[in-house]
Amino acid sequence: MDQLWTPWRFAYVTSAETAARAGVPKGLESWRGDLGCVFCNLIAAIDYAIKNGMSAEQAESAGGLVLRAQHNFICLNAFPYTSGHVMIVPYAHLDRFAGLPADAAHEMTALAQRTERALDRAYAPHGFNFGMNVGQSAGAGVAGHIHLHAMPRWVGDTSFITTVAETRVLPEDLETTWQRLRAAFAELK
Ligand SMILES: [Zn+2]
Repeated sequence: MDQLWTPWRFAYVTSAETAARAGVPKGLESWRGDLGCVFCNLIAAIDYAIKNGMSAEQAESAGGLVLRAQHNFICLNAFPYTSGHVMIVPYAHLDRFAGLPADAAHEMTALAQRTERALDRAYAPHGFNFGMNVGQSAGAGVAGHIHLHAMPRWVGDTSFITTVAETRVLPEDLETTWQRLRAAFAELK
């Protein structure tokens, strides 16, 4: 039997989750709250900064927020498995995928398709992983708030020496990833 390849099972966000005010990005600490969830804190801190005069561009860059849709947003994984590793996250704090209302679930699927196109445009990968862990026993780093991982993959990328189009793909800093994906999503419209 083939072994399943599930890189999103690694605990990318576990260390952030246990920190106080987890998910509050650097530069957005003026929001003083703590909702006890990295994703809820992320959105609250970004919205607070914008409400208090920061440009959306600056606040969303600081938070790694790539795209806002009606029911879900797309943000960078702060501990990427590969460059371009993002998460599609509903605004609603839900711990079960089955609990997500149908319109939000449909939008999540549509966003996953857009993400595949955007990653293709930005990184020209050989393949993709999409995956969701529901519950701690399934490997969820943030078990209280469901999120769909999406990442580009390259043959041999686990060795971190992959080259594509004569450009070294890994590693790439998060600011660069944010700019590339922001542009790629904008170009899809
Ligand atoms: Zn949450």
